[in-house]
Amino acid sequence: MGTGRLIVLTGPSGVGKGTLLRALLKRHSDLYLSVSATTRQPRPGEIDGQHYQFVSRIEFERMVAQGELLEWAEFAGNYYGTPRRPVEEKIRQGKWVVLEIELEGARQIRKTFPEALRIFILPPSLIELEYRLRHRAQDSEEAIVRRLDRARSEINAADEFDIQVINDDLEKALERIESALFAPAGV
Ligand code: ADP
Ligand code: 5GP
Repeated sequence: MGTGRLIVLTGPSGVGKGTLLRALLKRHSDLYLSVSATTRQPRPGEIDGQHYQFVSRIEFERMVAQGELLEWAEFAGNYYGTPRRPVEEKIRQGKWVVLEIELEGARQIRKTFPEALRIFILPPSLIELEYRLRHRAQDSEEAIVRRLDRARSEINAADEFDIQVINDDLEKALERIESALFAPAGV
């Protein structure tokens, strides 16, 4: 059995984290993607238990109070958090667990799991980020404005992370993530 590991992927909304992760998981089926809990409404096509565990605010607050979340944060008016038990179990079993979370959550993980590999995904530019958010066409105008506003401060924190990857060409970004994950230390 290998050694369990925690990998954190962070970056502004719309930068392409979900797209990169889907491609990464397709190539490396042994990686385990943590399913977060959120109070956000499901987008068309999102499935409860698969994309997120969709919960009420009351349920989320209960999870926080009972210490069931490894980290959590409020983002653009909704709560998001990582259920603790599945992550700890997988790591104990020697699995590599990936968290796709925003900045505040990544900062909490830095304190509780200092050995986690933390990757920050950057857009080629803010204009391109706005284009991607709008063309994803899944958020209201108000949500897009809040996400862009938050993006500016998140991008300023990219240096806090172990590596920074610009998601311009998807394949190149994917290769950089793969080499950070799988290259022998020091390469
Ligand atoms: P996030 O999970 O970070 O919010 P998504 O994965 O939903 O972002 O991607 C946002 C939009 O950007 C999607 O429409 C996606 O198809 C597009 N996208 C992702 N990566 C790239 C890329 N390298 N070049 C162009 N468009 C991209
Ligand atoms: P979205 O609503 O676009 O799915 O996600 C909004 C933001 O919440 C993204 O930046 C995403 O990475 C982040 N996020 C998703 N799950 C979690 C989580 O469990 N914890 C934290 N802190 N952020 C999360």
